[in-house]
Amino acid sequence: MSVMEMSHRSSDYDAIIKAAEANLRKLMNIPDNYKVLFLQGGASTQFAAVPLNLMNKNKKADYIVSGQFSGKAFKEAQKYGDAVCVATSKEDNFVYVPATTRESFRPDADYVHICFNNTIYGTKYNYIPDTGDIPLVADMSSCIISEPVDVSKFGVIYAGAQKNMAPAGLTVVIIREDLIGNARPETPSMLDYQLMAENDSMYNTPPCYAIYMAGLVYEWILNEVGGLEKMKEYNEKKCSILYDYLDSQDYYIAPVKKECRSMMNVTFVTGDAELDKKFASEAAKAGLKNLKGHRSVGGMRASIYNAMPIEGVEKLVEFMKDFAEKNPK
Ligand SMILES: *Cc1c(COP(=O)(O)O)cnc(C)c1O
Repeated sequence: MSVMEMSHRSSDYDAIIKAAEANLRKLMNIPDNYKVLFLQGGASTQFAAVPLNLMNKNKKADYIVSGQFSGKAFKEAQKYGDAVCVATSKEDNFVYVPATTRESFRPDADYVHICFNNTIYGTKYNYIPDTGDIPLVADMSSCIISEPVDVSKFGVIYAGAQKNMAPAGLTVVIIREDLIGNARPETPSMLDYQLMAENDSMYNTPPCYAIYMAGLVYEWILNEVGGLEKMKEYNEKKCSILYDYLDSQDYYIAPVKKECRSMMNVTFVTGDAELDKKFASEAAKAGLKNLKGHRSVGGMRASIYNAMPIEGVEKLVEFMKDFAEKNPK
């Protein structure tokens, strides 16, 4: 019987989900006072689950809007209470992550929300913002397990699995235990962290196969890559090939501020929308797929998640050189 066929309540499956959790805990060095939840609905469902569970004392939450997903999270939170955008880089087309200090946040905010890696714009936090005693909530959908993070600095980390961990359908939530148990009364059962934690993510049928696959990915990083320090080394090497090339020439422009560059999503443009289009279509013909930037920003974006080998990036740089030569501006 394959994992797709077994009952999620069987002892065989129980061993699979328990091993996946244990391996994620080991990989990310998750402290014992944190719960790991395997949920559904994607990161976008967490945009509502976070305020429903956490906007419970003063009904206030502070958001840093550093791109499209954090903008969506902010918009969703406004449905549930006094959500305020305390910092944004919107006026500058999100080419950096806005800087904040403790004083940027309302002292009585129930939490502060950030997006750790901005998938569409290719920016990331290269530090953890200081929020004092206010719990920090981070959307890590596009950077989770790409490098080590100090989980103890966060109240909640959540991530849709489909970029770095598993096929679509699974959302991982890592939450400090003291933040569980005060969901607002109107919270749908399926979004209530307490109910999900009490039922070991099995209140209803979990995304069994995606959890199984995530477990295999955790094992791969632990046993074959050698942990998150090694994963980071590999990812740094990989993105440096692309960034070093971008910095060495003037045909392509990398719009993101250097100190905010993402390891996972590298954005660049030629400066000419028609050429960008041609680049993406010729690259696809050469076997280099999915290089068109997000529909909202245009240009190009190379998403080089954990699964992308160094050779893929080397091929891309070769293609970029060739394209620049053949298409003078
Ligand atoms: C992809 C992505 C999302 C959306 O995830 P879904 O699982 O499709 O809801 C949210 N946040 C970030 C940072 C993402 O990269």
